[in-house]
Amino acid sequence: MSTETLEFQAEARQLLQLMVHSIYSNKDVFLRELISNASDALDKRRLAGLTDERLRVEDPHIAVETDQRARTLTVRDNGIGMTRDEVVGLIGTIARSGTAETLRRLRESKEPAELIGQFGVGFYSTFMVADKVTLVTRKAGEETGTRWESAGEGTYTLETVEDAPEGTAVTVHLRPEDGEDGLHDYAEPSTVRRIVKQYSDFIAFPIRAAGPDGTGEQTLNSMKALWARPRNEVDEEEYREFYRHIAHDWTDPLETIRLRAEGTFEYEALLFIPARRPHDLFQRDGRHGVQLYVKRVFIMEDSRELLPDHLRFVKGVVDAADLSLNISREILQQDRHIQLIRRRLAKKVMATVKEMMAADPEKYRTFWREFGPAVKEGLLDPAEDRKAILDVASFSSTAGEEPTSLADYVARMKDGQDKIYYMTGESRAQVENSPHLEAFRAQGYEVLLLTDPVDEIWVESIPDHDGKEFSSVARGAVDLPADEVPEERTGSYAALLGWLGETLGDVKDVRLTTRLTNSPACLVSDADGLTPTLEKMYRAMGQDVPPARRILELNPDHPLVGALRTAHEERADDPALAETAELLYGTALLAEGGDLTDPARFAKLLADRLARTV
Ligand code: ADP
Repeated sequence: MSTETLEFQAEARQLLQLMVHSIYSNKDVFLRELISNASDALDKRRLAGLTDERLRVEDPHIAVETDQRARTLTVRDNGIGMTRDEVVGLIGTIARSGTAETLRRLRESKEPAELIGQFGVGFYSTFMVADKVTLVTRKAGEETGTRWESAGEGTYTLETVEDAPEGTAVTVHLRPEDGEDGLHDYAEPSTVRRIVKQYSDFIAFPIRAAGPDGTGEQTLNSMKALWARPRNEVDEEEYREFYRHIAHDWTDPLETIRLRAEGTFEYEALLFIPARRPHDLFQRDGRHGVQLYVKRVFIMEDSRELLPDHLRFVKGVVDAADLSLNISREILQQDRHIQLIRRRLAKKVMATVKEMMAADPEKYRTFWREFGPAVKEGLLDPAEDRKAILDVASFSSTAGEEPTSLADYVARMKDGQDKIYYMTGESRAQVENSPHLEAFRAQGYEVLLLTDPVDEIWVESIPDHDGKEFSSVARGAVDLPADEVPEERTGSYAALLGWLGETLGDVKDVRLTTRLTNSPACLVSDADGLTPTLEKMYRAMGQDVPPARRILELNPDHPLVGALRTAHEERADDPALAETAELLYGTALLAEGGDLTDPARFAKLLADRLARTV
């Protein structure tokens, strides 16, 4: 069979380069990555064997072989293996989305290797220690195998091999040049033993290697499931290694949670809250969920049924004693016990976050920054405990740079204030300077600045928190305790307000307000109307919503508004007044970050007007 030479996909090539030149100090981890892949392949083969008995294997295991003279280390498994196409697709390319983002972060990071595992490119870490890697694989059930080889530069070779055993063998040809103690270390059985003990003890399949004297074969790992061991016998480092194995994330998790339920339906759970969000957190087809085991036997990857969707970033294992070994996703979705597990796990995760909030604010802030937008999705589900979610939520606020919890907001409320004021919008910068906030700011009322898309929606459907009503500062009439525009003023403005309403076709109503202190005007939504951001979101989702007509509110204390009234009394028919009205409306729209329907016309009106005043 002839040898074919193929090119790595551009992104893969760049990642490889980073690995080849990596100065990451802990090179041991390449072995952990290979063993982790081998273990996954054995899991997959066992699952495939459940439905097709020809795929079953006698003695599933991983073997690590070293050859000091040839300077090689080989990790061999009798797992599922790969077809030729799979080798090209899985090893020659980085198929996952977010690759561009990955590369940018890798290039900027001082420790690129720290980031490698997170994106599922663990295999490439072999090039930290290798000048050549050979992979021989045969997919279980297939006739022939494939030999892949690369020096980590731009290309790799592929060859069909007739006599490969089922499964995969990865041979790392160790680089000779590094250091005095030399990379030959990795060709030493004692090094292999140490690394396996340290990183891979919990792997559920035997990892075998030559004994200390180089003869005989030994199983190096205890194969004990961490969640089945007594708590006081598992140390933090073991949890962290396990997390790396299941989450493909080299960053330590923020929290480790263990849970055990006894009684009629027994299960154990070992959960992790990661320290940063995966790049696919908001992708519908993202890889989310935990692993499901039944009595220590791996059943399912990425099981999303065991936690509510808004906690989909939680990683870990649930081991249920009383499920059938060939349970399907469909059955999982309906199973009553699974629903109970799900509720209990969700509660436990929320309780953990709440504790974190009190005990370690710094850690909590990291958590909320990474996962808050996902957690808040839970507020959209009436079946969820929405109070529990609001209890751990925090929001930007006019009170300071750091986000605040609702409890802290309530504690700071002014005497006589009975509402939680908020404003929604697309970014803090946009919302913060919106005219709607002026009076609230002037009178010292704190306003929450809600800028995640999901905020627009939940805040519509949840009336209050702990008895305090949520109240938008950009909607309805202002209801600041001390305020109302005096009757006599309203009267003297009646003619102007009526005329503006007729002249400006786009507005629903025109009225005076106490909301403003510096600006002449602003636009507010009806008490039950759509906010502009919500309107935009509906349109983006392809829904046909009529443009909401909003209310123009005027600040009677602003010189422009006063002058307009006088001018209107004196010369109501002057066409220049209608232009002023249009400019006033356009300015209000711009000030809140809105979009003008005819920006060119606005610019021309403004330029003409300025020309007369300079
Ligand atoms: P990750 O393991 O994080 O997905 P890798 O780069 O380590 O990323 O591996 C890419 C893919 O190649 C794996 O997801 C798996 O499908 C396949 N693969 C790697 N090693 C093996 C193996 N020993 N047996 C079967 N498939 C493997």
